[in-house]
Amino acid sequence: MAFKPANHIQDLQYFGEFGGVNPSISDSSTYTFLSAKTMFDTFEGNADGCYLYSRHSSPSNLYLGEALAAMEGTETATVTASGMGAITPVLLQLCDSGEHIVSSRTIYGGTYAFLKNFTPRLGIDTTFVDITKIDAVEAAITPKTKVLYCESVSNPLLEVADIKALSELAKKYNLQLVVDNTFSPLSISPVKLGADVVVHSLTKFINGSSDTVGGVVCGTQELIDQLRNVNDGAAMLLGSTMDSLRSASVLKNLRTLHIRMQQHSQNAMYLAERFQNDGLKTVYPGLDSHPSHKLYKSMMNEKYGFGGMMTIDVGTLDKANALMELMQERNLGYLAVSLGFYKTLFSAPGSSTSSEIPEDEQEAMGLSDGLIRFSIGLDADIERTYSMMRDCMVELEIL
Ligand code: PLP
Repeated sequence: MAFKPANHIQDLQYFGEFGGVNPSISDSSTYTFLSAKTMFDTFEGNADGCYLYSRHSSPSNLYLGEALAAMEGTETATVTASGMGAITPVLLQLCDSGEHIVSSRTIYGGTYAFLKNFTPRLGIDTTFVDITKIDAVEAAITPKTKVLYCESVSNPLLEVADIKALSELAKKYNLQLVVDNTFSPLSISPVKLGADVVVHSLTKFINGSSDTVGGVVCGTQELIDQLRNVNDGAAMLLGSTMDSLRSASVLKNLRTLHIRMQQHSQNAMYLAERFQNDGLKTVYPGLDSHPSHKLYKSMMNEKYGFGGMMTIDVGTLDKANALMELMQERNLGYLAVSLGFYKTLFSAPGSSTSSEIPEDEQEAMGLSDGLIRFSIGLDADIERTYSMMRDCMVELEIL
């Protein structure tokens, strides 16, 4: 039977303290106990349903975590203060000093910088590979490797990871496959394809209103318990906890994610088809021309489409900047990083979100100067948007 992630969110039922249709928000950093013994047991992790201190967990954070675990089909989840606040503890929990990670080379710039510049200080090294070449991934695995890391759809090049094939490798070598699913929530369900852990930046599509940062790690109860352990849990000890007020608001936004993703995908498909027909170098996983179009199709939960992210290449950074400024002037979107907003957002990743990646490596992975990354918005009249974007391109002699 098809996996129905949005149903799993919808089927959860929580009430507020007084029967409110939304759960009450926990407005406390610490919790009382009727007996000293229960407090001790809670510290030891043996008192289910009791709360100790909100860096460890809070009812609001657990509600959001449960909803995201239901979406991803994992046993449980822990929410964090940002996407990086999910990615960094999970990698540090899974790898000890002297161990090794094999990672896709086309990942979010912050994650790349963490693996390239930060974890080596702790004795954890990473080999970056072309994730679309399974042979190259396998060749990079050493006896010290503990983790295979990738994004289901990569930032910013929209490369698609073959999660089934990667999970077979992970099983063969006893590795944990950690997948960042930020670009394709609902559309791709990595755990159903064999991933062990799914992380998200909630900052993007899931929250969808560009008003907060947030993250989540979805995984087994055992992993999440380890992350939250008071003695050696990376989430607990590094302290990237989400605030309860925020988790309550993200939960409310999550409930409309299925509708928003359909609209983002529909709009992105419309524009990508037209830009490609106009002769622009367009990358969108929904296009036949995308090298992994068939792979994405074979992995996706069809209803949610191919997502809201696309890129075009207009040749030079100057042209890219001129186009983005003109589109913003005409209210077609914002020149801003991030993604998943109701307005279209555009940026030139080489000089912004991927600037952590050295220029020669950007070139090797095909990240060109004239590339514009679009997060397509929820525009009600995408035909008008297209015609106005086209006018901008004609005016600037891009078309
Ligand atoms: N993963 C991906 C794919 C991203 O695009 C980002 C941010 O841009 C992150 C992780 C980091 O998330 P955050 O900014 O919420 O820490």
